[in-house]
Amino acid sequence: MWDSLWVDANLATMATEAQKPYGTIAQGAIAIKNGLIAWIGPQSDLPDIPENLAHTIFSAKNAWITPALVDCHTHLVFGGNRAVEFEKRLEGATYEEIAQAGGGILSTVKATRAASMEELIKSAEQRLKAMQREGIATVEIKSGYGLDYDNEIKMLQVSKILEQTHPVRIKRTFLGAHTIPPEYKHDRNSYLDLVCNEMIPAIAKEQLADAVDVFCENIAFTYQEAKRVFETAKTNGLKTKIHAEQLSDSNGTKLAASYGSLSADHLEHLTPEGIGAMANSGMIAVLLPGAFYFLRETKIPPIEALRKAKIPIALATDCNPGSSPITSPLFVLNMACTLFKITPEEALAGMTRNGAAALGLADKTGALEVGKSADLAIWDIDHPSELSYWIGVNPLKHLLFEGKDVSLS
Ligand SMILES: [Zn+2]
Repeated sequence: MWDSLWVDANLATMATEAQKPYGTIAQGAIAIKNGLIAWIGPQSDLPDIPENLAHTIFSAKNAWITPALVDCHTHLVFGGNRAVEFEKRLEGATYEEIAQAGGGILSTVKATRAASMEELIKSAEQRLKAMQREGIATVEIKSGYGLDYDNEIKMLQVSKILEQTHPVRIKRTFLGAHTIPPEYKHDRNSYLDLVCNEMIPAIAKEQLADAVDVFCENIAFTYQEAKRVFETAKTNGLKTKIHAEQLSDSNGTKLAASYGSLSADHLEHLTPEGIGAMANSGMIAVLLPGAFYFLRETKIPPIEALRKAKIPIALATDCNPGSSPITSPLFVLNMACTLFKITPEEALAGMTRNGAAALGLADKTGALEVGKSADLAIWDIDHPSELSYWIGVNPLKHLLFEGKDVSLS
């Protein structure tokens, strides 16, 4: 007997091998046992009447069931926010004036360092719940606002506690190489020594992170510096990923490909050479339309070239206080379509199957297939394109994480 069985459902399986758009199974059924998908197919193919197959039967009443959403790139844990800075900029203040007044990323570093674990948990929890209310069951959270040993560890521990206390799967990423902290402004190498000689080995040893990320950009870390961090990650058995080609071409994507990284993220300035490096590398291209929108960028990532090279595209909120204060995956789907001309089906794949692959979870979640985690989002819609279409409408009826109903209050 299965634990539960959903019938009268339209299924968007988002499975790779699916022949139909969205991997659609009309009038489908999906069974759950021990938190995993135990059976999926047209209802008419069920081996017996539902009552003989499962302890509990649910009718989806013709709603659509998709894989629960995956947000593979966030900076969800941080102290304070930058709304006042946002306001000042719109009143005409320059970046220099804002920086002089203590604004910018360093203001978030200051607020994050000053915050207790409880305070960080409380503010992150609100954002996490907002994401769950729109169907997210898996989220990646980066460190990178502590920028010293204790505070980077503190951020990763906060993410760990969030996972232990909420029905959600969290992947933790160490982003000590986010920016140079103020106390190392004139001594970049010493900060990199700290990241590579102390932080990464300790984090690997304590299993506090699954991967290491670097912000490779002319305003952050150079190619050579990123390489040093990647080499250290590799030595310590951690996976890698990169913030690359967001504001300029720094060759970060090529570097990441040479280390077999999970993903390269942003990619507005990705060149044909970078695409060549990514092709056939198994890397995922993670696009972040929220940051593009919020920073009023104009250079669109090379979508057509990514398609041609068959590089899987994932989408994420990039939730962070400076450039993407966004907790809405549905808004991200819409922005990907309107700003980047991604199709709604590509967008949904970007926050399900490909988002999971970007976290090394392709065998676990992101598609409705037997053996995968029963992470399901049940939507009151007539067609899955509606998930990318509406702005400000949330049609989520139920969210299941590992087969269990997640309270959306
Ligand atoms: Zn980011």
